[in-house]
Amino acid sequence: MAEKSFKYVILGGGVAAGYAAREFAKQGVQPGELAIISKEAVAPYERPALSKAYLFPEGAARLPGFHVCVGSGGERLLPEWYKEKGIELILSTEIVKADLPANTLVSAAGETFKYQILIIATGSTVIKLTDFGVQGADAKNIFYLREIDDADKLVEAIKAKKNGKAVIVGGGYIGLELGAALKINNLDVSMVYPEPWCMPRLFTSGIAAFYEGYYANKGIKIIKGTVAVGFNSDSNGEVKEVQLKDGRVLEADIVVVGVGGRPLTALFKGQVEEEMGGIKTDAFFKTSVPTVYAVGDVATFPLKLYNELRRVEHVDHARKSAEQAVKAIKGLEKGQSVDEYDYLPYFYSRSFDLAWQFYGDNVGDTVLFGDNNPQSPKPKFGSYWIKDGKVVGAFLEGGSAEENQAIAKVAKLQPKAENLDALTKEGLAFACKI
Ligand code: FAD
Repeated sequence: MAEKSFKYVILGGGVAAGYAAREFAKQGVQPGELAIISKEAVAPYERPALSKAYLFPEGAARLPGFHVCVGSGGERLLPEWYKEKGIELILSTEIVKADLPANTLVSAAGETFKYQILIIATGSTVIKLTDFGVQGADAKNIFYLREIDDADKLVEAIKAKKNGKAVIVGGGYIGLELGAALKINNLDVSMVYPEPWCMPRLFTSGIAAFYEGYYANKGIKIIKGTVAVGFNSDSNGEVKEVQLKDGRVLEADIVVVGVGGRPLTALFKGQVEEEMGGIKTDAFFKTSVPTVYAVGDVATFPLKLYNELRRVEHVDHARKSAEQAVKAIKGLEKGQSVDEYDYLPYFYSRSFDLAWQFYGDNVGDTVLFGDNNPQSPKPKFGSYWIKDGKVVGAFLEGGSAEENQAIAKVAKLQPKAENLDALTKEGLAFACKI
């Protein structure tokens, strides 16, 4: 079987891979030195588009429109770009074995890839209901969303089940974005999740009340405090009903499940140090194996601002960690020092006409400010998280670019705020004056 050898190999062809390739090109890479190996069939793209504009009934985003790095306002890297730079894109190729001591990867087809430096950028995979043996969960038209192939299958089903019924299982950001996308496509949407409110890992009850109210106004039915325990299908094997734990049964032509992800680290088990379910790295994304780096969703890295290890599954970190790793690799080669990664957590989501951003850490006390009436023509509201008398996190719905920058600055600088009532009253003005 064929063997190929590269100076640098990026394993995975997602967001982090694309931004790493751009940084390699910036820092200088010789033709033939760098390869990206991906099980997807397309060049790296901005994954968040899959749950947003990709699903629009009109004017939907399609490749090549959203290849990296357009999501951060950068140059769009088309497959030709990689060719011009002499970067090999090895697509539709799944790596099934990694032998880190031997600097070797092996594909499902049996090809061997050798490297001097490996960047692991395998991202996450979805948690499936079949993983827990949920009865009937393998029925047709039950979808998960991670890769472009998943999105294409969902788009086909949306077309085939016009004006049908959709059930969204899960109340995280995938659930919320998919609920909106299916509603915009004129499906009759119900959402089911066990928690008392949506996005409980980030949203306070006050924040969530706005989104649940807004979704209800759009005609989306929200069923909380219960879970899907089984699915019934017709003689074609297509899903027809969702059984809930509380005994209710929902009709469904399409089910979308968004119940979380898991970092793809299994290939490296026992070969590299792990922490918090991810691959442990230093502030330069170097792992316990000096020739191996890990970036994006799979990396557990020191978050300098909070002086603790974290794993972050967001696109902004995927981009920045990839750039940091490449700077560090090239810095070592050139004998130049590179600053430690100093990341401010940033997460965003968009659905319907809504758009929110969050910066910092969601720990401590919270205050809610602004107009959070879901009926308002232009709602704008937010929250601050306050720990040890300092504002450490900030959330804003409906903010302008400047206002979003202002809340980012607050989360970074952590100004004092002793009086929570005063902070509530001041609201966004507190951030804008910092
Ligand atoms: P990925 O982009 O997932 O890339 C991993 C790549 O590795 C994939 O190409 C995969 O096929 C490949 N791969 C994995 N294993 C192998 C193997 N064994 N062999 C070969 N190739 C392999 N974040 C936000 O902050 N805001 C959002 O609005 C947002 N929306 C999202 C919407 C969706 C639908 C999804 C799925 C994620 C969203 N995210 C969002 C999260 C964000 O996209 C991820 O954090 C980011 O893509 C992580 O980048 P990554 O490069 O680490 O992994």
